[in-house]
Amino acid sequence: MIRFFQALLRGFFGRCPVCGRGRMFRSFYGLRERCEYCGTEYERTGNQSTGGMAINLVVTILLGFIGGIILVLRWPDAVLPGLALLIVVLTLFHIVFYRCAKGLWLGITSLTGDMEHDG
Ligand SMILES: [Zn+2]
Repeated sequence: MIRFFQALLRGFFGRCPVCGRGRMFRSFYGLRERCEYCGTEYERTGNQSTGGMAINLVVTILLGFIGGIILVLRWPDAVLPGLALLIVVLTLFHIVFYRCAKGLWLGITSLTGDMEHDG
């Protein structure tokens, strides 16, 4: 169980989910091919980003749903401006959180054995 959360945390913060030393991203969104320390290949099949997109989408929709409910219950007279602000915030969140969601997904795939290790 500790290994599970460790891999997820490492992925979330952009570290190699296997060794925790290598950095997964070479730029904000650009994924490295392999870990510089343990040689783990991050995107072996090239379609692992779909899981990251799914996590990102689900979390953004969930936050939008919760934010919408809070908006309607707390500020019923300012729903339209609040909704506009909520859309802007969620759009920015969606853009920034994609990196973390992709890291989370790669942490999950490292636990399923879908990553190839050299060491
Ligand atoms: Zn590594």
